[in-house]
Amino acid sequence: MPTIHEKVSLQPYNSLALPAVAEYFCAVRTTVELFAALEFARSKNLSVTPLGGGSNIVLAGDIAGLVLSVELKGLSHKVMGQAVEVTFSAGENWHDQVLHCLKQGWYGLENLSLIPGNMGAAAIQNIGAYGVELADLFVSLTAIDKQSGAMVKFDKAACDFGYRDSLFKNIGRDRYIIVDITLALSTEPKVNIQYPALQTAIDKYADSVAAITPELVSAMVCEIRSAKLPDPNIIPNAGSFFKNPIVPQVQASALSQQYPHMPSYPQVNGDFKVPAGWLIEQCGLKGAVRGPVGVHQQQALVLVNSGGGSGAQLLALADEVRTAVSQRFEIDLEIEPRVYGD
Ligand SMILES: Cc1cc2nc3c(=O)[nH]c(=O)nc-3n(C[C@H](O)[C@H](O)[C@H](O)COP(=O)(O)OP(=O)(O)OC[C@H]3O[C@@H](n4cnc5c(N)ncnc54)[C@H](O)[C@@H]3O)c2cc1C
Repeated sequence: MPTIHEKVSLQPYNSLALPAVAEYFCAVRTTVELFAALEFARSKNLSVTPLGGGSNIVLAGDIAGLVLSVELKGLSHKVMGQAVEVTFSAGENWHDQVLHCLKQGWYGLENLSLIPGNMGAAAIQNIGAYGVELADLFVSLTAIDKQSGAMVKFDKAACDFGYRDSLFKNIGRDRYIIVDITLALSTEPKVNIQYPALQTAIDKYADSVAAITPELVSAMVCEIRSAKLPDPNIIPNAGSFFKNPIVPQVQASALSQQYPHMPSYPQVNGDFKVPAGWLIEQCGLKGAVRGPVGVHQQQALVLVNSGGGSGAQLLALADEVRTAVSQRFEIDLEIEPRVYGD
């Protein structure tokens, strides 16, 4: 049986460093421990909240029930010609595994370098960056169904991935604990550098390298991200605080007429994606400071906790941002991280 603690501070367990207390807390390192912890919760009729790296949550208050730190480790792989299927335990750190795969000569994850958090949660919101998302590489995952206690397998179609979205944020919300995920990688060093900012960064090296390798792509992604995004260990944050809104074509063209410099990106269904950071900046909120919380000075999409802020203060700022954007552009911004304890 894993040790179950009472009244544990979650401040070290969330990248926004927000203060909150878990009624019960338990770290699980094996599936046996995971089942035992779930049994404990069932016996006491407690809700169960799984946690990975805590980089995509907002703690607005204390969490009742059992908070489960999913620390399952390990990986296995299967090579089939140039294809490699790798199964990662949910508690493995995402970026460590990107680097590990590059070292093994298993390619495909490089555009997703340096995303904080663990492998399990990557499937919750279909993480994406620099022109690649998890769904592009996804094969399947294994999860424990909290309702039945059974181990279940989901293939890609069953996960119903969308933009920063999946079944696990919708009808499967709060029902499953992800145990492992399987991704399809390749031993062929093919790179994807279509994303404009990545292309520009790589162009600088085009004359000095023999080939654009996956290793170079990973290094460039790390360089761009480190220059652009605040390190949560230095300035606590949860990355993009809002999803980039997707608006119908009619609204996008009306806005483009009014704001000719507004960036927008066509989607396959005819809608347009608008950068939330641009909208926030236009509202004059980039760099806004509200006591201990604020909008980052270089990245309007990132809300920060500069020292001792609470979840309530952060959510009040998020409300201010959403109201300003809605009043000016008639666009509703959706918060990307999961809010707990409000
Ligand atoms: C600086 C910074 C940059 C970021 N950049 C990006 C980016 O480029 N692209 C992107 O997509 N995201 C980005 N993010 C968001 C974040 O890194 C991802 O969402 C990541 O996948 C979260 O992983 P985590 O382990 O920290 O999840 P957590 O924050 O611990 O959990 C997130 C959600 O998943 C659930 N969960 C966690 N583990 C499990 C499990 N094993 N089973 C079931 N549910 C689980 C939790 O209950 C919670 O609801 C960024 C965040 C930061 C701080």
